[in-house]
Amino acid sequence: MFKNEYLTRVYTQVEKRNPGEPEFLQAVQEVLESLETYLEKHPEYEANGILERLVEPERMIQFRVSWVDDAGKVQVNRGYRVQFNSAIGPYKGGIRFHSSVNASIIKFLGFEQTFKNSLTGLPMGGGKGGSDFDPMGKSDGEIMRFCQSFMTELSKHIGQFTDVPAGDIGVGAREVGYMFGQYKRLRNEFTGVLTGKGLSYGGSLVRTEATGYGLCYFAQEILKNMCSDSFEGKKVLVSGTGNVGTFACEKATQLGATVVGISDISGCVYEPEGIDVELLKQVKMKERKLVKDYAALRPNATFDPDCRNLWKMPCDIALPCATQNELDGEDAKALIANGIKLLCEGANMPCTPQAVQAFQSAGIPFGPAKAANAGGVATSGLEMSQNSLRLSWSFAEVDEKLKGIMKGIFENAYKASEDCGVPGNLVVGANVAGFVKVADAMLAQGVAY
Ligand code: NDP
Repeated sequence: MFKNEYLTRVYTQVEKRNPGEPEFLQAVQEVLESLETYLEKHPEYEANGILERLVEPERMIQFRVSWVDDAGKVQVNRGYRVQFNSAIGPYKGGIRFHSSVNASIIKFLGFEQTFKNSLTGLPMGGGKGGSDFDPMGKSDGEIMRFCQSFMTELSKHIGQFTDVPAGDIGVGAREVGYMFGQYKRLRNEFTGVLTGKGLSYGGSLVRTEATGYGLCYFAQEILKNMCSDSFEGKKVLVSGTGNVGTFACEKATQLGATVVGISDISGCVYEPEGIDVELLKQVKMKERKLVKDYAALRPNATFDPDCRNLWKMPCDIALPCATQNELDGEDAKALIANGIKLLCEGANMPCTPQAVQAFQSAGIPFGPAKAANAGGVATSGLEMSQNSLRLSWSFAEVDEKLKGIMKGIFENAYKASEDCGVPGNLVVGANVAGFVKVADAMLAQGVAY
C-alpha cells in the first residue's frame, strides 16, 4: 500500500488499534498516501513520532444520553466527542445527529477536521462529536429534551478556550440553540462556546450559507486557475439538500450556472431548466419536507426514488453534499462518460477511493472536502472572533472574508501540489498544506500529548 516503511508501520498500528472502523481507516490511509513524497524530504517528523501522534486522538469521550419521549418512555442514545488535535488552537468541529453515528464516523470526521481547520489559516484544532439519535420524525419537545441531556454531559468537556462545537448533519440552528441554552444554564455564563448560533444571541451572518457558498468559491478558483473557465452556463448536480447542498445550489445559480439535479434520501429530481432555489428552501428548510414534495410542485421536474441515480444525469460540475461514500467508482465512471468537467466535495469524504482514482485518472479537476468545504468552519472561526470582540460584522464583510479564505486555501493547496511534483493534485496539496502547520506546531510544543 505504501512504499515508505514509516508510513507502513504507522498505518499497520492504526489498523491494529481501530478494528472495525472502516471510515476512520479510509480517512487515515488517504492522508498518509498523500504525505509520502513530503515525508521523505523531512525526516524530522519520523524522528519525533509526529504521525504516530497525529493518528491517535488526544481524547475520545463516549457517554450515555437518556431522555424522555412524548409518550413518557425513557430513551437511551450514545453520545461522542473526539478531541483530536489541539496543536494550533482549541478543538473545533461539528456535532452530528444521525442513526449511523458511531466511533468510526466520529473519528474519521475529527481526523479530517484537524487538517481542514489548519487549511483555513485560523487558530482552530480538530474535534467532532455526535450521537446515534435520529431527529427524523421527533417532535420539537423531544429534540429539546435530547439536546439538553446531550449538553449536560458535553458541557463538562467543552468551553470557549477548550473545545467549540458547531452543527453538522441533523444539527442546525434549532439544535444549536437548545444546546447553547443548556450550556448557559449549567455554567451561568454567556460565551461563544458553540458556533452556528442564532443572530440574536451571538451568531454570525453568513454562517448558515458558508459551507455551500465557500464550496462554490473554491470551485470558482479551480475553474479560473486550472481550466480558464467559470460557472457561467454550466449544468450542475448537487446531492443532499440540507444546509450545505441548498446553499451550494443558491450560490451556483447566482454565479450563472443552472442546477439541473438535486437529491435527498427520498430520491433525486431532474429539472433541465434549473431548480427554483427559493421554493427548495421553503420545502426543505421551512416545511422540513423532501425533494419528492418539491418535485410535485414543479411541472417540468422528473422525480426518481433512487437518489444514486442523480449521478447518471449529464452535467458539467458535480457537487456531492450529502454524506460519506455516497459516490462510488461506478458513479464516477457514469459522470465521466457524460462529460463532467469538475467535481468538488461539499460533504465530508463523499467520494470513495475508487471514485477519486477514476476522476484523477481521467484528468478531471477534483476539489477534496477538507479544502472545498472548509468555508463552514472558517466562518465559525469568524463567529468566534466576533464573540470575543463583542461585535457583529455585516453580511458583506463576512462574505468577503470567506471568499478570501477560500482563495487562500486554493492557493496553498495548489502550491503544495506543485512542491510535491504533482501540480493540480489538490488531494495531495490540501493534505500536505494542512499537515505542515499542525506538525510544525507539534514539533515546537514537544511531546506534550
Ligand atoms: P444536513 O443534515 O443539513 O443535510 C444532509 C442532506 O443529505 C439531507 O438533505 C439528507 O436528506 C441528505 N442525505 C443524507 N444521506 C443521503 C444519501 N445517502 N443520498 C442522498 N442524500 C442524502 O447536513 P449538512 O448539509 O450540514 O451536511 C452535509 C455534509 O456536509 C456532511 O458530510 C457534513 O459532514 C458536511 N459538512 C457540513 C458542514 C456544515 O456547515 N453544516 C461543514 C462542512 C462539512 P434528507 O433531507 O432527506 O434527510
